[in-house]
Amino acid sequence: MSSAVAETSTSAGRVDVPVNLLDLDRQALKRLFADLGEKPFRATQVLKWVHQRRVTGFEEMTDISKALRARLAERVALRLPEVLAEQVSEDGTRKWLLRVDGGQAIETVFIPDSGRGTLCVSSQVGCALDCSFCSTAQQGFNRNLSTAEIIGQYYVAYDQLTGTGEQITNVVFMGMGEPLLNLEAVIPAVRLMTDDDTYGLSKRKVTISTSGVVTMLERMREQTDVSLAVSLHAPNNALRDELVPINRKHPLERLIPACAAYIADKPHRRITWEYVMLDGVNDQDHHAHELARLLGDIPSKVNLIPFNPFPGARYRCSPRGRILRFVRILQSHGLTATTRVTRGQDIDGACGQLVGKVQDRTRRQQRLVQRELRREGR
Ligand code: SAH
Repeated sequence: MSSAVAETSTSAGRVDVPVNLLDLDRQALKRLFADLGEKPFRATQVLKWVHQRRVTGFEEMTDISKALRARLAERVALRLPEVLAEQVSEDGTRKWLLRVDGGQAIETVFIPDSGRGTLCVSSQVGCALDCSFCSTAQQGFNRNLSTAEIIGQYYVAYDQLTGTGEQITNVVFMGMGEPLLNLEAVIPAVRLMTDDDTYGLSKRKVTISTSGVVTMLERMREQTDVSLAVSLHAPNNALRDELVPINRKHPLERLIPACAAYIADKPHRRITWEYVMLDGVNDQDHHAHELARLLGDIPSKVNLIPFNPFPGARYRCSPRGRILRFVRILQSHGLTATTRVTRGQDIDGACGQLVGKVQDRTRRQQRLVQRELRREGR
């Protein structure tokens, strides 16, 4: 059994499924070629063929011998997520619904902005966390995405953007899912985005956003140095426990130092703290002062996100004047603070609005219905 061929069980017994070529970053390709008794430089050839020259089969890789191409084709094949739907917002934001293995669907969003193009990718089908203001949370969780399904979103978006004059310059892991709970697949996908023989994105232009899985932050630091964004949303544990329940397990006194440690050895880097503005919940003057004290002198940028509503949401967005005042208080403490412009809301492509098609395995939807019924006294 080769390490490059996955085994899958079916009712008919064990069958070999060729490994997805998109699962293989440079390291994995080198291992594959070592297995085949070939030289490591073959990895560069294949990366260029797949990601730059866009060929989808080995038969077209003409600088590789026919015999080797045949051996590769036995073990590896390129499989892409299927585009089920594309929506284009009036502001130019595009959202794709992509089918992944197992009949599930995820969403990927492209946000063009004066010379920049940010691709917002999903890392899981649904999300296992239960942030009270996020609609992905309400979908429940099904499974982690593979590396192929993550870089597949990039691959498909790249193709879809061809001829539109737009291109991907930045990537944010701010779609569906918690990337730090799927680091094993996320890291090779990041390597595939930043490799000079694929898309060559600079590591600063790739941002992993986390709700704060502290143990995994330490692992992330060992494996990559991309930009870090943290979904903070509250300046104290009592409030954060309510909004971002993973805080009960990984409270602020552990989260903040772990984030500071992530950039400690990286000059000129700062952490982006995301803070969703919820009317009357976390948007008062005292919250802003408390937030500034919490962040202290950690190199920071606070990104305030106007809350995006979704069916069944129990919050409202803070009024504009409140958000502006919050920004000014943070600035008075010497912090950089910006307000995220909401994009793609007309196509439900804004933060926290991605839902995909998730077969929930956590019974979250069932619990939500029961909660609603109890609330209504039925
Ligand atoms: N799980 C990761 C990645 C998701 S990122 C994380 O939590 O960081 C999505 C960003 O949008 C997060 O900052 C999230 O908190 C924010 N968000 C979620 N729901 C939102 C909503 N309804 N309105 C505005 N922002 C929201």
